[in-house]
Amino acid sequence: MKIKIARNAGFCMGVRRAVNLVLKAISEKKSPIYTYGPLIHNPQTLALLDKLGVKVIKNPEESCERGVCIIRAHGTSPEEKSSLKKRHEVIDGTCPRVLRVQALAKKAASQGKWVIIIGDKNHAEVKGILAHAGDKGLVVSSEEDIKKLPEVKDCVILSQTTQNQKKFEELSEKILKKCKNCKVINTICNATEKRQSEVIKLSKECEAIVVIGGKFSANTNRLAEIAKARGKEVYLVEKPEELDLEKVKTKKSIGITAGASTPNWLINEVVDHIKVSCLVPYRILKAFSFLSFLFVLNFFLMFSGFLNFVNYPFDLKRLWFSSFVFFFLLFRYNLDTLLQREQLFNFYSVKAKSVTKHLKLIKFITVISVTLSVISGFMFNPQILGVIIGLIFLDQVLKDSPLNFLWEVIFLGAIGLYLYPYWKEPTFSFLFLEVLLLILFIRFYLEIVYFQTDGFLPKSFIISSLGYREELIYKIMKVIIGFGVLCILPLIKTSGFFLSLILVWLVGYIMVKGLKARPLGQIIYLETLSLTMPTLFFLLSIIKRFF
Ligand code: SF4
Repeated sequence: MKIKIARNAGFCMGVRRAVNLVLKAISEKKSPIYTYGPLIHNPQTLALLDKLGVKVIKNPEESCERGVCIIRAHGTSPEEKSSLKKRHEVIDGTCPRVLRVQALAKKAASQGKWVIIIGDKNHAEVKGILAHAGDKGLVVSSEEDIKKLPEVKDCVILSQTTQNQKKFEELSEKILKKCKNCKVINTICNATEKRQSEVIKLSKECEAIVVIGGKFSANTNRLAEIAKARGKEVYLVEKPEELDLEKVKTKKSIGITAGASTPNWLINEVVDHIKVSCLVPYRILKAFSFLSFLFVLNFFLMFSGFLNFVNYPFDLKRLWFSSFVFFFLLFRYNLDTLLQREQLFNFYSVKAKSVTKHLKLIKFITVISVTLSVISGFMFNPQILGVIIGLIFLDQVLKDSPLNFLWEVIFLGAIGLYLYPYWKEPTFSFLFLEVLLLILFIRFYLEIVYFQTDGFLPKSFIISSLGYREELIYKIMKVIIGFGVLCILPLIKTSGFFLSLILVWLVGYIMVKGLKARPLGQIIYLETLSLTMPTLFFLLSIIKRFF
């Protein structure tokens, strides 16, 4: 079965921005946190916000404890905003594109012009724009409303940002016939248009269309209508359990799209639900990733590559040393998964559900891996058992801190001490730095992958302390790449072969580019891609050592 996912499915820029503001307030421990009206039209995300303590206030005068209040992407009226400011610290999450329409309405009204807004008069966005036009504002939702319009002169016609293009054109043409000296400004947001034109394209290419989103979300329903009008079988679902898999399995190709208020974690859940039942390779990758082998291999390949680069001998000691590292990491990552299972539900529900389903197996792997790590650590050097206890303690202390990633750095530093004689090698320090940079780079890479779920990331993510500013993270990743390349240059004196390590950072650069393309529903594949750099590093170390 072919599965095609619309590139622009899910949150639009404005909704994403408003959600990020709430996330930032949560990570800054602001309390209590309110949103003025439901943040988005998605019951699952609202339930998640409620679980995280974010409350909805419906009236600016509502009596409640003073806190932080986030204005949603639709915006609000100046009166409501100033009333909210008297009671709370206000964070304005109004979408910049809605702000523009509000400003246009205000400007026209201040010039004495009438402002006619084509849109749904009961919609919060339209009410907000109308309020900016003062007593000069009028709303037109249908042809009936045009008949009731007063004979006005000097007016500006604006549109609700999510208005249907065709309807806007038809209605504005009719208003132009009735009102003199009228200027039309199309303020429809292209996010709506893009989603609609993509569903048209998907309808041409696929046998059936899955639309994910709130049953009461207007833009979600519109996407379903468009596909239905093209004769396609449409499944409109809020969550994966609502999908009739037996019917879906009979299709050769499925197109998937989602409304502008559907978070990516829900899209991922539905995509995962379909892929797990239809694609065997996907099931294998998923198990590999969810049992923490992926994270262990990432670190293990870097560690083994490092040993090869510094010519650490292949003997029984190395075997014990390597198996200690492998089993200890397996223990640590699975223990983390078990302890943070509840938090996983907030940003990576697919994994959280899978962990819950395989709880016994994960507990078993955790117990076996700690036992084997103690045995192999003891066989390598009994003192290493002290490292185990110290690191577990440190891991728990840092579990809610963005410095949590330092755990891997300290672990690598600690095992680096056991390689003491090799510190004399001039290349050692630079290679050590290379591995540290790789760890940091992969950490950022994976955080961005999880960030793309639109879920609520825990405080232990570096991205949360950086205010969820994706662009900043991409810049930091590029700086790491540049620094990684710089660290290679001194190594060329020792051996020209080290120049090939630049390949590892070239792959990193391609990964950054790929991440920006935001492929939805691809989280398992993106996670697995994080193996590319450590694998390349390891392969180069083998070539360097033996050829
Ligand atoms: S649809 Fe457009 S205008 Fe409306 S919130 Fe989204 S990005 Fe902003």
